[in-house]
Amino acid sequence: MSLNVNQIFQSISGEVGGFPQGTWTTFIRLQGCNLRCSWCDAQEAQKQGEGYSVPITKVLDYCETHHVLITGGEPLLQASGVSQLVERLILAGKEVQIETNGSYSLPNSHFVASIPMSRKPIHWVIDHKCLSSDMSEQMPSPWELAREIAFLHKYGDEAYIKWVVNTETDLHFALPSIRKLMCEVRIENEELLPKLRGKLLISPVDAHEQPEKVMRVVEHIRQQDPELLDYVVFSVQLHKILKLL
Ligand code: SF4
Repeated sequence: MSLNVNQIFQSISGEVGGFPQGTWTTFIRLQGCNLRCSWCDAQEAQKQGEGYSVPITKVLDYCETHHVLITGGEPLLQASGVSQLVERLILAGKEVQIETNGSYSLPNSHFVASIPMSRKPIHWVIDHKCLSSDMSEQMPSPWELAREIAFLHKYGDEAYIKWVVNTETDLHFALPSIRKLMCEVRIENEELLPKLRGKLLISPVDAHEQPEKVMRVVEHIRQQDPELLDYVVFSVQLHKILKLL
């Protein structure tokens, strides 16, 4: 089986998520996305049918690092191939993170069928698109998202949810959305709520160029809902500060 790949490269991990920022990582950027976010910074990976068809065995050859991050595009458009790749990576003892755009429900049946439960966790970073992306209507409800998180934990995986905020309006959208998600997670499984600490990520767009954006968000939360500060982590894209890929 092959995967449709946009590019594979090694670099440091610049985003907050399952891997600490600064981790030396192999990035597998898959080709093709079902969304068209207004601020997309991976437009070259959007179009399906472009990119390179690479056999999974060959993709594995490129994974020279312990940490492997699968991103896109949207990896779950190629869920069958991605689950086979992840299975092989986990058997090889690698740490795996998958970044998904939030529009596909998890855990995907391909992963449930092919990857055993007693294994290393997969780190899932699930975007929850805000209004300025123009894609927020494609996102699951807080109730659906809470069920996804509960399922992923049942399979031993870790779920990180990320809100990319670009405008004040996004912030007014993101905070109630985080609150509603926490309520639904509490209803779904009360013991799961403390596990969300540090896994609700807020990433202000272009904070590498305008660092004041981060403290503006912090101050807003402090005024509106200070308890959230114990759950959220702020992300500044380190790879952009360092002018890496
Ligand atoms: S989901 Fe990601 S790759 Fe797809 S359009 Fe949005 S930002 Fe771009």
